[in-house]
Amino acid sequence: MTFNPDADISGNTTRRRGRGAAIAGGGVGVLGLVALVVAMLGGPDLTGLVGGVPGGGNDPASSGESTLSECDTGQDANTTDDCRMAGAQVLLDDYWAQHVDGYQPPTMNVVDGATSTQCGTASNAVGPFYCPPEQGVYIDPTFFQLMRDQFGASAGELSQLYIVGHEWGHHIQNITGTMEKYPNNGTGPDSNGVRTELQADCYAGAWLGDVTTLKDDNGVAYLKKPTEAQITDALNAAFTVGDDHIQEQQAGRVNPESFTHGTSEQRQAWFANGYKNGLGVCDTFAVSGDKL
Ligand SMILES: [Zn+2]
Repeated sequence: MTFNPDADISGNTTRRRGRGAAIAGGGVGVLGLVALVVAMLGGPDLTGLVGGVPGGGNDPASSGESTLSECDTGQDANTTDDCRMAGAQVLLDDYWAQHVDGYQPPTMNVVDGATSTQCGTASNAVGPFYCPPEQGVYIDPTFFQLMRDQFGASAGELSQLYIVGHEWGHHIQNITGTMEKYPNNGTGPDSNGVRTELQADCYAGAWLGDVTTLKDDNGVAYLKKPTEAQITDALNAAFTVGDDHIQEQQAGRVNPESFTHGTSEQRQAWFANGYKNGLGVCDTFAVSGDKL
């Protein structure tokens, strides 16, 4: 259990989109999508967790949309993945409103099946992503099961929060001008893309490191202090979405020149750095390539 059962998360504005529409063509696995990373360079400017890209073309998206009105308490967030995402939204907005002047929240969309976005179709096969033009975070919680099945990650509760926190990190980069200042300049271990992704990992860590201090209007801390096992689990999630790990699994070899997100070791290190030391250490653009 991660959330305090009594915590009030009823202020969430998370929306469920897609109403169980089937994925076109039966969907493609997360690993298969890695092959599309190259295509992403010429595609929409979006930043997912694992280098996938929403599929374009024959769009299966449906119009179903509803608020997650059933997600009111921490107990709800401990019970269902959907409400855990809604709880994360409340926590993330609370945190970032304290750290970014004039903070404007992104929209939070829990994808059920598939739905169309300005960045293409969102589904569990695509994986969680942030769509900059509409300032929207998209997550299909069934992706967590894919993480277990295809990446061998346990994808526990804190891991799930890390993933949401990572996507929120891209929103912060968008509204604070980081994305504009450091545009995608191709792949490689020293690329802006890798620095962008590692910073999002650091932001997620900084948020989770501070998150037990965040309280609802009744003074109830939203989250319980993470256990060592949970932190290890989140680090494991960061490991499994490292470029080298994914390439090794997919192709049996590692090609640093095609890195888009950083190695497993880097992703763990930046998450841990943010977790221990806070936002102040998250300027991945200021360090030399060998310090990344
Ligand atoms: Zn990302």
